[in-house]
Amino acid sequence: MPAAAARGQASRPNIVLITADDMGYGDLGCYGSHLTTPNLDTMAGEGVRFRHFCSASSVCSPSRAALLTGRYPARSGITRVMFPFDTYGIPATETTIPQMLKTAGYRTACFGKWHLGSQRAFLPTERGFDEYFGIPHSHDMWPRPLMRNTEIVEDPARLDMLTQRFTREAVRFIGEAKESPFFLYFAHTAPHIPLEASSSFKGKSPLGRYSDVVREMDWSVGELFSALRENGLDDNTMVLFTSDNGPWYQGSRGGLRGVKGETYEGGMRVPMVARYPGRIPKGAATNAFASALDLLPTFGRLAGAALPGQPLDGTDIWPLLSGQQDSIDREMFLYFDGLHAQCARLGRWKLHMSRYDTPPWLPGGRVNLPLPRPELYDMENDSEEDYDCAAENEATVTDMRARMERLLLTLPAPVMSAWRDTMRRRVEDTPIGAPPVEIKP
Ligand code: MG
Repeated sequence: MPAAAARGQASRPNIVLITADDMGYGDLGCYGSHLTTPNLDTMAGEGVRFRHFCSASSVCSPSRAALLTGRYPARSGITRVMFPFDTYGIPATETTIPQMLKTAGYRTACFGKWHLGSQRAFLPTERGFDEYFGIPHSHDMWPRPLMRNTEIVEDPARLDMLTQRFTREAVRFIGEAKESPFFLYFAHTAPHIPLEASSSFKGKSPLGRYSDVVREMDWSVGELFSALRENGLDDNTMVLFTSDNGPWYQGSRGGLRGVKGETYEGGMRVPMVARYPGRIPKGAATNAFASALDLLPTFGRLAGAALPGQPLDGTDIWPLLSGQQDSIDREMFLYFDGLHAQCARLGRWKLHMSRYDTPPWLPGGRVNLPLPRPELYDMENDSEEDYDCAAENEATVTDMRARMERLLLTLPAPVMSAWRDTMRRRVEDTPIGAPPVEIKP
C-alpha cells in the first residue's frame, strides 16, 4: 500500500466510545479504586488517562446530549433528566457525532442506554445511528422496554442480562463492520441503580453488588478488545472509556467533593481513558483539563469529517490525547445545573458563583442562590474544593467572572436570564449590612 494511502487509512480510525452510567471518578483501579477492573487498567496502561476530565452535566440526559453534540445542554434544550413519557428529545436541529461521522463514510451503532428521547422521532436510529439495541431511557424508570432499532423486543427488559446482551451486540457489530470505518457508542446501563449482574458475576465479588456490576462491565471491555484483535482492527481503532456523571449512591468520588447532581467536582469529574496503539502514548496521564464537549470536534478531526455548522463548545483535544502537547488554549468551561451556570473552570482555577439552596436529593422546589462571595479553588492543589482562595486572588475572580458573563451571552437567551435572576437575588435579598445568605451544605 502506498505510504499516502496508509496514512489516509490511519487517519480514519474506528472509534469505540464506551460510557458507564453514574460511575465515579474513583471507581477504576487505575484511578485508585479497590474495585477490580483489570481490563480497564490494562487499557489505561496502553493509552492515556485524564485526571481532569469533566462531563458537561452532573445528570444523565444533559450529559449525553452534550457528549453527542459537543454543545452545552442549554443549546439543545436537554437541561434535565428525561422521563419515558416526555414528548421531546434531542432536536433534529442538533448534529450528533454519528451524523457527523456518517458524512465521512462511517458505519454507526448505539448499544445500551439512550436517554435522549423515548418517542420514535428521537430514538438513536433517527439521530444518526444505523442500528440500536438497548433501553431508550434509564433502567430505573417504568416502563422499561428493551428495543432493537424502533421495535420493542422485551418488556420489561431483564436487568441481569443487559451487560451480556449489549456486549454480544457490540462484538457482532465489530465483526460485521470491519470493512468500513465504524463508530460504536456502547452506553452501559451499569453501574447505575438498580444493580444487577449476570450469574457469572452476581455474588462473586467479596466487595458486594456494586463491585459485581463493575467487574462485569470490565469483562465487557475485555470482550470488545478481543473482538477488535480477532478482526485485525486493534491497531486502527481508538477506544475511549468515560462516565456520564459522578456517583449517586455507591460509587466512589475518588476524594473529590460532591456527588451526582452537584457542580462540585465529584458530580462532574469522571474517569477518561483512551487507547489508540501507535498514536496515543502508552501509560500516559495528563493533568490538562478536558471535557465530554471535546469528543465531537476530536472525532471529526480524526475521521476527516466536516464539523457541524452550529457553534461548538468543545475543543479538539487530539494534541492532548497524542501527547504532542500537555496543555491547550481553550475557552473557559462552564459547570451547568439546568440553565444555571454555577461554576467555571479556566486553567488551574475553578470559580463558584451560585449554588442551590438544597441538595438535589431532597424533595421540594430548589432555588439557585448567588454565593455570598464568589469562591475560587485551585484545581491543581485542591481538587477537594476545600480551601476558598478568592480573597488572595481578587484579580482572577474579577477576570473569570467577566469572561463567564461574556461567554453566557453567546448561549441561548434563557441562560443569561437565569444568570440575571440568580444574581439579582443577591442584590434584592441581602440588605446592606445583613449577614451573608447562608448556604446549606
Ligand atoms: Mg448517569
